[in-house]
Amino acid sequence: SAPLLEVRNLKVHYPITSGIIFDRVVGQVRAVDGVDLTIPKGQTYGLVGESGCGKSTLGKAVLRLAPVTEGSVQFDGTDITTLQGERLRAMRQRMQMIFQDPMSSLDPRQNVESILTEGLAAHGIGKNRAQQREIIGETLDRVGLPRWALSRYPHEFSGGQRQRIGIARALALGPDLIIADEPVSALDVSIQAQVVNLLDELQDSLGLTYLVIAHDLAVVRHISDTVGVMYLGALVEEAPSDDLYAEPLHPYTRALMSAVPVPDPDVEDRRERILLAGDLPSPSNPPPGCRFHTRCPWAQPERCADERPELVEIRPGHRVACHWVNEIADGRIQRHEVTP
Ligand code: SF4
Ligand code: MG
Repeated sequence: SAPLLEVRNLKVHYPITSGIIFDRVVGQVRAVDGVDLTIPKGQTYGLVGESGCGKSTLGKAVLRLAPVTEGSVQFDGTDITTLQGERLRAMRQRMQMIFQDPMSSLDPRQNVESILTEGLAAHGIGKNRAQQREIIGETLDRVGLPRWALSRYPHEFSGGQRQRIGIARALALGPDLIIADEPVSALDVSIQAQVVNLLDELQDSLGLTYLVIAHDLAVVRHISDTVGVMYLGALVEEAPSDDLYAEPLHPYTRALMSAVPVPDPDVEDRRERILLAGDLPSPSNPPPGCRFHTRCPWAQPERCADERPELVEIRPGHRVACHWVNEIADGRIQRHEVTP
């Protein structure tokens, strides 16, 4: 189907300032540094990476909550990169966000009814109070919360129910795109699947499009049509979900994947563990060449440290940014120890 969201060469750079009134720019944090991604209508794109890789900043930039330094964001055929005022507000109603920790994103002094009504009022949805109550009631049904929840406060609910309130708040506005930033990582593992399943059901019944951001590859596996892996502000691999999990090709994805536990405890896990040496380098001073070369167990003296690999399509829909992807896949280049 047609793309709902098209992100082109997106860059979000923040100045690092110094001086008593922070008036001297001494560097730049390249939080997002040239990302392309496309999400067709009704599909889910899972965006994965360690904290600090820029994935949340990318989500915010799509919503124009982080400043776009370069590149563009097209939403349903409209370039929204420079929209302002009323047109930006109208567009934002169609793009809603769900946050990691519903406890900190829901105002504890507001009851559920006022939390859900607030957005409707701000966007002028519903002709009157009665109509707004109808919309809110339907939304509660959709997320599986009882009507009596309306008079209660966030602290009276469990973590999973609070996330349902967060989802209801987004849904009430009738969005087309939902950006879910770590929607289940604050929840118990037993509750995570329920919330992911709810998101999946809502997608089917409402035709929603999702960008789901997570640090955990396992979380986005079943809900995503396409998965993108980010490292230091850039995508290093992108593929249809099944392909990526069946055969990760980028060294960084391989390392992340080797840390995902096998779902069936009776199946012996014979995969090799790939532990990454060292910390994530600073996005204000990313390594030259391939940004992953300081931690890559397959890094070569040739090219890796001085030539930045482009994202190249290796198979249909499967794109990888690594100079040696083929040599690594067929074993011509072997893994070695990395000492940080
Ligand atoms: Fe590793 Fe080199 Fe490939 Fe980068 S380009 S992922 S350093 S092998
Ligand atoms: Mg789905």
